[in-house]
Amino acid sequence: MSNGSTETPTRPRCRFCSEPLRDTFVDLGMSPLCESYVRPDRLAAMERFFPLHAYVCRGCWLVQLEEFVGADEIFSEYAYFSSYADSWVAHARSYCEAAIGRFGLGPDSQVVEVASNDGYLLQWFVKAGVPALGIEPAANVAAAAEKRGVPTLVRFFGRALAEELAASRRRADLLVGNNVLAQVPDLNDFVAGLKILLAPGGVLTLEFPHLVRLMQENQFDTIYHEHFSYFSLWTAQAVFARHGLTVFDVEELPTHGGSLRVYLRHAEDGRRLVAGSVAGLLAREREFGITRPERYHQFTAQVEETKRGLLDLLIRLKREGKRVAGYGAPGKGNTLLNYCGIRTDFLDFTVDRNVHKQGLFLPGTHIPILAPDEIARRRPDYVLILPWNFRDEIMAQMAGIRSWGGRFIVPIPKAAVAA
Ligand SMILES: [Zn+2]
Repeated sequence: MSNGSTETPTRPRCRFCSEPLRDTFVDLGMSPLCESYVRPDRLAAMERFFPLHAYVCRGCWLVQLEEFVGADEIFSEYAYFSSYADSWVAHARSYCEAAIGRFGLGPDSQVVEVASNDGYLLQWFVKAGVPALGIEPAANVAAAAEKRGVPTLVRFFGRALAEELAASRRRADLLVGNNVLAQVPDLNDFVAGLKILLAPGGVLTLEFPHLVRLMQENQFDTIYHEHFSYFSLWTAQAVFARHGLTVFDVEELPTHGGSLRVYLRHAEDGRRLVAGSVAGLLAREREFGITRPERYHQFTAQVEETKRGLLDLLIRLKREGKRVAGYGAPGKGNTLLNYCGIRTDFLDFTVDRNVHKQGLFLPGTHIPILAPDEIARRRPDYVLILPWNFRDEIMAQMAGIRSWGGRFIVPIPKAAVAA
């Protein structure tokens, strides 16, 4: 099947600009899908592992993984319920209040959220009397949203669904997508859909983890198979511009280890001026090196050093006879534990508030997931916080461990025992 090219036929191509991907960002080895928690009766069964190899595109600087498993397989029965994190729900509520004021939303407006999860965000618009529609492919999660009074379509979003909604006069005055852009396999189809669904004069806001923060703070554990793409503002802006959308404001948020919230409008809608925040952040990204390949090539060494630091700490504690438990069973925890080779030799168990995960085992490492009150019962000497982006909330909730001299370990950006 040779076409005369000397190129490896399997070389992946950029999901935005189609350039062949030649530059490794980081190769985290083979890992199971991070949401494929293992039932007790499946512990002896074979698990599927896939390469967790992130590339950076020289054409557009999009950091990305190849798609090994279809999104329908990953997202149709999703174990992540946004409402289990209190600070994330509070974040959504304050966003809703600010958006209603800033964009003058009322009973005649239409808000649509793509990947609306369990209604953690749209519930606040519903309570404020602003018509809201959620779009969520995971049926079990969408059912939780309906229970909250949030009308939800169980569908994947893309150009086809956007055209259907636009034809039935359901274009969005405010269109929201939080932590979904990274998870879209067909990026161009998804962004084209956003353009179609956005009403004339409407505003689109998207939140996604900021690649610069990921690089600065060694957040390699946020790389997992379900996250196909990792964006700087520089790259995001290029993607939206190709689809006729203009970034007119950007905010830097502390969520998920450092995210961007971008505000977009139709390119042809000149009424909203582009704020200075956009040029300001683009300039800082260039200074950081976001358009230089060397900057990306440095990342691997940082990641390896973070792994060595965490293992050093755990090996020392285990040699001292300490008992270490985990807190949380997030996707990022599974990247971290599999890449570092941390199993029950280091972590006796982990706990999670999500009852859907309790009684299961972490993929790959087979660490048992228990209910949070097991921490108080078993009194470990150290608790490794896997969802480190919620570390303040978790340390406040679990402050009781200090009563028996327990201490917290935060693995990222550098493994450390919390003061
Ligand atoms: Zn590209």
